[in-house]
Amino acid sequence: MTSVVLDLDDTDEQRAFRSSVRAFAKRELAPRSDEAEATGKYPRELLKKAADQGLIGLTLAEELGGLGAGVRYQAIATEELAYVCAGLATGLNGLGLNLFKYASQEQRDRYLVPTLAGECTGSFAITEPDAGSDVLNMSGRAVRTADGWRITANKMYITKAPFAEYLFVVVYTDKEARRNGLSAFLVDTSTPGVTVEKMDKLGHWSMETGMVYLDCELPAEALLGEEGRGLEYVGETLELGRVNHASRSLGVARAAYDAAVAYAHDRSTFGRPINQHQAIQFKLARMLTTVRSAALHVRDAAVRVEQGQTTTGATNMAKLVASEAAVSVATDAMQVFGGMSYIMETPVQRFLRDAFLYPVSEGTSEIQLRNIARLTGIVSTTGCGH
Ligand SMILES: Cc1cc2nc3c(=O)[nH]c(=O)nc-3n(C[C@H](O)[C@H](O)[C@H](O)COP(=O)(O)OP(=O)(O)OC[C@H]3O[C@@H](n4cnc5c(N)ncnc54)[C@H](O)[C@@H]3O)c2cc1C
Repeated sequence: MTSVVLDLDDTDEQRAFRSSVRAFAKRELAPRSDEAEATGKYPRELLKKAADQGLIGLTLAEELGGLGAGVRYQAIATEELAYVCAGLATGLNGLGLNLFKYASQEQRDRYLVPTLAGECTGSFAITEPDAGSDVLNMSGRAVRTADGWRITANKMYITKAPFAEYLFVVVYTDKEARRNGLSAFLVDTSTPGVTVEKMDKLGHWSMETGMVYLDCELPAEALLGEEGRGLEYVGETLELGRVNHASRSLGVARAAYDAAVAYAHDRSTFGRPINQHQAIQFKLARMLTTVRSAALHVRDAAVRVEQGQTTTGATNMAKLVASEAAVSVATDAMQVFGGMSYIMETPVQRFLRDAFLYPVSEGTSEIQLRNIARLTGIVSTTGCGH
């Protein structure tokens, strides 16, 4: 049903890839979505199915065992998976696996190889109760010991943590050094002194999220890459993460739009389908336009990252526009569904609950605007370059 103006793929290869992910999502996510949403339990077997489909190592470099596909392919995959179930989709992207380029061979053998086989998975633990937008305000730290490291940190809202086998944890190894004092560690969740408490959320019910408490001893080899480069590694992950996040928002916005179009066709009032009322047509037209603008931003941001044009502000804009598009389109879809929107058996309430996450996570809208202002030189130039 999706309108032709949303066909923004550039090649037949991309279209074929989209069709294959769409079929996978219908086959593997759709039948599991209702139960996972109702129980709040992530169906682990999906990891294996996604790995077999080539989705986990999609963008990972070939020398690390991935497929080396461009970010564009990840964006397409995430959009199609999120269209069916955003919570389940969140568990299936391997963008952060690129951090394994900094890992030792032993770390790769232990975590990356089984991750690519769908046998294990990891989380990114950066946020703390007093350090979300303000990352440098974190108090988690790691101190050298005779045998390795002692790490103490409370990490909050960590996606997948309740069922992950390992965590990428970022903490201070030198707080005085601020930006250059953060380091990344690969921590096994079975380490004594690591505990995870599940957190209940408004949406994304099929994805498990947790509070992670770390008070543990780690071997020297748990350090990922070089000491003091943690923030740089986070920045690299987030540039890709924003494209992925925006693609997920786009998938939800598209799903809400399609659901509204179908309902407006089937539902009649005053003797005609509600899509014959101009007020509803205007609403649907605006929704489609909003979805398309998000899609154009996502495509542009993915292409730029693929071409190596990073830190231009394009990924921040894509994340900002797409996350707000998801909320706006899902809100309008609720209105099109009328009273039925408020009944749990219809999907639109899920789209809205899921969408509310997007402007407040992975760099809130305000933080995107702050970074767009910084990266584009808004405050130091007089306009668009004329
Ligand atoms: C479901 C969920 C999953 C998540 N998954 C993960 C994960 O896997 N790993 C991880 O590390 N984190 C994760 N997060 C954390 C998420 O990225 C943070 O919640 C987010 O960065 C915002 O931080 P905060 O909640 O501390 O808000 P705050 O930083 O306290 O911000 C509160 C408000 O103030 C605004 N604000 C803050 N500073 C400024 C400023 N300088 N100018 C203008 N406005 C400002 C913000 O935009 C926001 O509106 C997740 C969060 C959620 C809800």
